[in-house]
Amino acid sequence: MTGHLSIVGLGPGAAGLQTPDASAALAEATDLVGYLPYLQRVARSIGQVRHASDNRVELDRARHALELAASGRVVAVVSSGDAGVFGMASAVFEAMEAGPVGWRQLDVRVVPGISAVFAAAARLGAPLGHDFCAISLSDNRKPWALVLRRLTAAAQAGFVIALYNPRSRARPEQLGEALDTLRLTLAPQTLVAFARAVSRPEEHVEIMALADADPLLADMSTLVLIGTAETRSIPRADGTVWLYAPRTAC
Ligand code: SAH
Repeated sequence: MTGHLSIVGLGPGAAGLQTPDASAALAEATDLVGYLPYLQRVARSIGQVRHASDNRVELDRARHALELAASGRVVAVVSSGDAGVFGMASAVFEAMEAGPVGWRQLDVRVVPGISAVFAAAARLGAPLGHDFCAISLSDNRKPWALVLRRLTAAAQAGFVIALYNPRSRARPEQLGEALDTLRLTLAPQTLVAFARAVSRPEEHVEIMALADADPLLADMSTLVLIGTAETRSIPRADGTVWLYAPRTAC
């Protein structure tokens, strides 16, 4: 089989945060496959075919990309941030494993991207300087009880927690429940950041104590970062604060 398939992370939004390798993979592709708002972030290239789809049909999209590549096309599947972090890369490998053996002969490449947690952390200071984890609050593919168990375990273990997919129209209540669960383990003064649309024109960042964290501050473009007892803040000249994790934990 001669086809090529790149799975490309576009970064969090700003063009400068898309890697040169990602740009090259996108420019080389004959076909782009992805969720429409992500495809809209990719510069247009003459003759390139775009296959836009709804965000809920990841596996169909992955199969379609593999079929295109198997037919000899040079395909790029796009995801925001890093494609391997709650993104399309897993769907492609799931489809590959369940699909024709021939798909395993394709030239497949995963091109890393800057995930939302890294873009948000850079805005905030250095909150990930010690141990951290990432949890998606979406219960589309896992039971909500498991999400709550993982939140409690992560808080008890002292991880900084990056919450992806914190809130959507279909799941308006879950972030509130997640914060209440964290309040059972973490002190009320634990620092929490809501980093919305980082690196995009509508970027908005707020930092507060866990006791004051209001789920309404989050939407689907927000990354919520939960600090630990060790997370420190330093006032900045503009009235906001830097957040950072000391390099040594007690
Ligand atoms: N693969 C992506 C994550 C996809 S899940 C990545 O690596 O970043 C989608 C979630 O990512 C959103 O609900 C939000 O929590 C987070 N996210 C994506 N872009 C963001 C941005 N620019 N600012 C803040 N959070 C973002």
